Amino acid sequence: MSGDVRDDPYTRSIFSRDASAYSIEPLAVAFPRDAEDVAAAVRVCAQHGVPVLPRGAGTSLAGQTVGRAVILDTSRHMDSILQVDAHTRSARVQPGVVQDDLNRAAARHGLLFGPDTSTSNRATIGGMIGNNSAGSGSVLYGMTIDHVISLDVVLSDGSRATLAPVDIARVAQHAAADTLEGSLYRRLPALVEAHRAAIGSGFPDYWRRAGGYRLDRLAGSSPFDLARFVVGSEGTLVMISEATVGLVPLPAAKAIAVGHFTSVSGAIAATEDALTFGPSAVELIDKTILDLSRQKLEFAALGSILDGDPGALLFVTFNGDSPAEAAAGVEKLAELWQRHGHGYSTLRATTPAQQGALLRVRSAGLGLLMAASTGTRRPVAFIEDTAVDPARLSDYTARFAAVLRGHGLDAGFYGHCSVGCLHIRPFMDLTKPAEVNTMRAVAEEIRDLVKEFGGANSSEHGDGLARSEFNRHIFGDELYEAMREVKRIFDPDNRLNPGKIVDSPRMTENLR
Ligand SMILES: Cc1cc2nc3c(=O)[nH]c(=O)nc-3n(C[C@H](O)[C@H](O)[C@H](O)COP(=O)(O)OP(=O)(O)OC[C@H]3O[C@@H](n4cnc5c(N)ncnc54)[C@H](O)[C@@H]3O)c2cc1C
Repeated sequence: MSGDVRDDPYTRSIFSRDASAYSIEPLAVAFPRDAEDVAAAVRVCAQHGVPVLPRGAGTSLAGQTVGRAVILDTSRHMDSILQVDAHTRSARVQPGVVQDDLNRAAARHGLLFGPDTSTSNRATIGGMIGNNSAGSGSVLYGMTIDHVISLDVVLSDGSRATLAPVDIARVAQHAAADTLEGSLYRRLPALVEAHRAAIGSGFPDYWRRAGGYRLDRLAGSSPFDLARFVVGSEGTLVMISEATVGLVPLPAAKAIAVGHFTSVSGAIAATEDALTFGPSAVELIDKTILDLSRQKLEFAALGSILDGDPGALLFVTFNGDSPAEAAAGVEKLAELWQRHGHGYSTLRATTPAQQGALLRVRSAGLGLLMAASTGTRRPVAFIEDTAVDPARLSDYTARFAAVLRGHGLDAGFYGHCSVGCLHIRPFMDLTKPAEVNTMRAVAEEIRDLVKEFGGANSSEHGDGLARSEFNRHIFGDELYEAMREVKRIFDPDNRLNPGKIVDSPRMTENLR
């Protein structure tokens, strides 16, 4: 490799963690400079029977970037934006490009990478593809999987391939090659055919999903699209060395209605009205987070902006071709909320200056919660990104809260109401064995609750070490076995980020 390789204790210690509750010390950390470096690392590791694990910023919340492996950190050198093409509305990037950097480059052409995460100032496009990330704008733009055009990848034997949509008629042509890439085109269509019925019935009904392998996309897709199939595969199927992604027009203007409610349930009940006017985001934050933000100097301005002491806020964003059009959405919603008796006050933020302080608090929500730890008691991520149809969110949230109450747990509530995704992290002390048992019990109850509501156990953060264990239960035996076969087809020797998505350890192992 032309990039560095480190195996000193300091580097291994740093890379033993991500933003999750898990920790595993890696064998070494390599910093590839280009696709050939990635391929060389994969080949050498294959020769020595050593696993490899690709990593961007390591902001994953479920433990997917920790493992007993050689970590390939693409964020250090592989961070070039190779092209932004305004004509085709697309960008070609290396995997370590930070989302905000891509968006700054795209904005010069009036464009935007649609999916967003609250970690956009550090998280990478490779990591977004790895997790199938999505954010507040997903009601308008969908998930990362909807914006991937093609991927240059390194396969588990160190060979390189380009994954892109292939006409069904040309799949046989690709399958003829006597290579690992050829075998993907031979074996995956047969796998899909053999399990078509299970694929049709075994995936959760709700669209916003970041769990398991997306056989549903492969079964439904014509053309046959392996680029989108590997989105959300968490570094377990391929190493991405370059990505071509689609861009969307940057909205000309934005306006935000900030509804004030006395309770979380009141805010959630007002979501349906908000959705009738086609907003680009509907975001909730509760009093726990508001109170935490009040203690921080950087959010001090908030106190003078808000009306009273709300139990929850709903931020509803409207895009428009002009400031007047965006502001009209806010007015219509404020009027409807008033007519239906939702909330006690609606703040109108129509200028970027007014929106700045409010948006900072909203995107800092999870970070504020994480920083609220006292000693070893912290808000733990393991049930933090379930999603259900927003029409059922009120009932679902009440049942979710009852599960937490049943175990005597407190939690902050915030999330993307527009798409039924709530970020709920109970405060727990995982140094106490009894609380580890509680963690498992709660995870199982929530998993079953989500299933009852036809929702997704992970809707943007991925499976990692926290949720992979439940995939057999969620998808059923046949589909889970088909997913294990997917892993064997791509990675026969189980070298790429093993133990995630399928054949994982129990969620209570490897805790920090
Ligand atoms: C405070 C906070 C807020 C968050 N908010 C959101 C949110 O709003 N929406 C959301 O979706 N997520 C959110 N996340 C989760 C996380 O930030 C996203 O999943 C993000 O896209 C991960 O990017 P990363 O560069 O950190 O990836 P990493 O964590 O480094 O990696 C993510 C996955 O991608 C794989 N991967 C990385 N690079 C490659 C590659 N080159 N080839 C193949 N696989 C690769 C990794 O192996 C891993 O499985 C949040 C996290 C935190 C801590």
